[in-house]
Amino acid sequence: MIDAMAASSLRRVRDVPELRAEMNIWKTNGAKIGFVPTMGALHAGHLDLVKRAKDRADKVVVSIFVNPLQFAPTEDLDRYPRDEAGDVEKLQAAGCDLVYLPTVDVLYPQGFVSRIEMQGPAMGLETDFRPQFFSGVATVVMKLFNQVGPDLAVFGEKDFQQLAVIRAMVRDFNLPIEIVGAPTTREADGLALSSRNAYLSPQERAAAPELHRQLQAVAASPAPETAIQQAKAALAAAGFGKIDYIALRDADTLGPITEATRARRLLAALWLGKTRLIDNIAVA
Ligand code: AMP
Repeated sequence: MIDAMAASSLRRVRDVPELRAEMNIWKTNGAKIGFVPTMGALHAGHLDLVKRAKDRADKVVVSIFVNPLQFAPTEDLDRYPRDEAGDVEKLQAAGCDLVYLPTVDVLYPQGFVSRIEMQGPAMGLETDFRPQFFSGVATVVMKLFNQVGPDLAVFGEKDFQQLAVIRAMVRDFNLPIEIVGAPTTREADGLALSSRNAYLSPQERAAAPELHRQLQAVAASPAPETAIQQAKAALAAAGFGKIDYIALRDADTLGPITEATRARRLLAALWLGKTRLIDNIAVA
């Protein structure tokens, strides 16, 4: 009876000693641990990452933490959507084994003074508009990696530059963690799933898929730089506001295309009303 109840309720852990104790038991039992860090308000894209982790590992940990370090004071930290009860239900259904829900005090206790500063793929694109962002992401991911100690961690290509930054950090710091990239999960109309889509008004939601359509048009064009200008005009006409960037980059370095480029990626960030959308696609 007790076992049946335990099996039907996903284990929630909120501090480091309890997390470490559980991870040590799993490791002693020889379990391969998969990890999916998130900021919650979970959607089908997050759950696809959980499934990917489950396919590759014996046990899956998902963290939910809205990380203040990666938000600028002007950004949406306070209004970022939060739904712990709904998230836990979805994670249980997706086969997650443990959800880690640290508070800000657990991750950044008084006296916390350290930061990971990334260059390379962290330079440009997002950093031109959110200078604090990748330092905040790399610092929290390093902490979460050290707390969970996973064998592998799954990140979405939706945040393509973030995935490249995490890969670089893991390589540079010799972390014994396999990083798995997962393709972007989209609505039927092409809009990339995002927790921030909840901010969109019905009118904005109707305009939003134009972003993916325009990225596809650029990717299919024989003259991408001209096509980018056309896409910017089409997006403005569809009701989008400021375009932070639409840029064709080397998919490995995220720098400019060079003779050494093996794969190209088209990346975009732009505003629709008060919501900032990001998306990217491969370019053949
Ligand atoms: P977030 O909660 O937005 O910080 O995202 C947590 C993880 O989910 C990151 O690795 C994201 O790249 C990934 N993710 C977010 N949206 C999607 C999506 N539409 N498809 C696939 N992965 C996603």
